[in-house]
Amino acid sequence: MRINTFIDLVKNRDRTLLKILRHLKIAEKDGRIFLTVPDPDKREYVENLIRLKLGDSLAGEVVVVSEEKNRETSPDLHTGLSRRFTFDNFIVGEGNRLAYEVAVAVSENPGSTYNPFFLYGRVGIGKTHLLQAIGNRCLDKGLKVAYRSAPEFSEEVVRYIKEGRISEFRNMYREVDVLLIDDVQFLSGKERTQMELFNLFNHLYMKDSQIVLASDRHPRELKDISDRLISRFEGGVVVEITLDEMTKIEIVRKKLQELKLTVQENIVRLIMESTGPSVREIEGAIKTLKLGGSGALKPKRGRTDLDTVQETVATYFGISREEILGNSRSGRVARARRFAMYLCRKVTGASLIEIARSFGRKDHTTVIHSIRKVEEERRKDRKTDYILSFLERQLRERI
Ligand code: ADP
Ligand code: MG
Repeated sequence: MRINTFIDLVKNRDRTLLKILRHLKIAEKDGRIFLTVPDPDKREYVENLIRLKLGDSLAGEVVVVSEEKNRETSPDLHTGLSRRFTFDNFIVGEGNRLAYEVAVAVSENPGSTYNPFFLYGRVGIGKTHLLQAIGNRCLDKGLKVAYRSAPEFSEEVVRYIKEGRISEFRNMYREVDVLLIDDVQFLSGKERTQMELFNLFNHLYMKDSQIVLASDRHPRELKDISDRLISRFEGGVVVEITLDEMTKIEIVRKKLQELKLTVQENIVRLIMESTGPSVREIEGAIKTLKLGGSGALKPKRGRTDLDTVQETVATYFGISREEILGNSRSGRVARARRFAMYLCRKVTGASLIEIARSFGRKDHTTVIHSIRKVEEERRKDRKTDYILSFLERQLRERI
């Protein structure tokens, strides 16, 4: 049905309905009429009125949605954005400057210079913040923006398929000017979602819509994601975001000020020592501090011991501690990391969770896996046993 036909129809049938229509947004999509009611509480009333006045069969061509609760039926997309994240409240330093600058450039000229923009780095260091800041800036320019974490996106794909509305899903997403997909490492193994994203990607790319992706690792380190999708991810600019010590201090100071806490050197040091390279941890520590005073915040027990293990193992393998904590899966680095996890467990009293955190991992499955693997290697291989005994002796002297 066309909008004009619909209005003529209403004119002929009922004047009150016509009056109500003046207050509603009317749109047509795929031959159906979409009416948007500003007040969600009135939605059902309007729906019933339409059915009553137009009859069931005609009413079937009219979809009534409300302004806020229109996720299910509206042809409109929700942005997925939170106003909390902006460029203005992002603290810039050495480790995140490039990421920040590219993000700003992307929001100034979406779809042109850096497309796609792939941002990667460890947890808690500002990837989501930057994606959201891009989204907010673009939204302010009047662009159509959709921010989704990969799991959210995937759930949507599954739901639309189940409801037999996947083409609606595609049309909806193809309209966006800026698509932001967060935590793409979670696309791992989700083949159908990958396929939808791949097609959407091509479509958006062709019409110069901006695509931004964030992940905890470099595209090439992603697991169980199709090669063709990875090559798309790598097709634009790939930037790593890190948190260096200087920027970390700066962030600690600013966040203390934000929460109206005094910026004393000993407090800054305490927060520095009780947190890893993660802004999220800093925020947590400061909140703890605000609630419980400085006594509530002790440098994590064993924290420095874990550092010592990581440093010792790194030195032994001739790599940096950063590499041990990173995500590289190159044989040598991965082996060093496994050994470090194993030794952390063996020579410090730290829990698996604490160990996982000290390596910047969210959960401890990797730690368990690594420990098992090393135990097996140690049993089977004399050289491994020798190296580990050597490192263990060295560590026991230091810890
Ligand atoms: P990630 O997505 O990398 O895991 P987030 O973007 O969620 O990390 O950041 C974690 C928290 O730290 C958020 O509250 C975010 O606002 C804050 N944050 C991260 N980096 C900065 C920064 N450079 N300046 C200010 N706040 C930051
Ligand atoms: Mg995030």
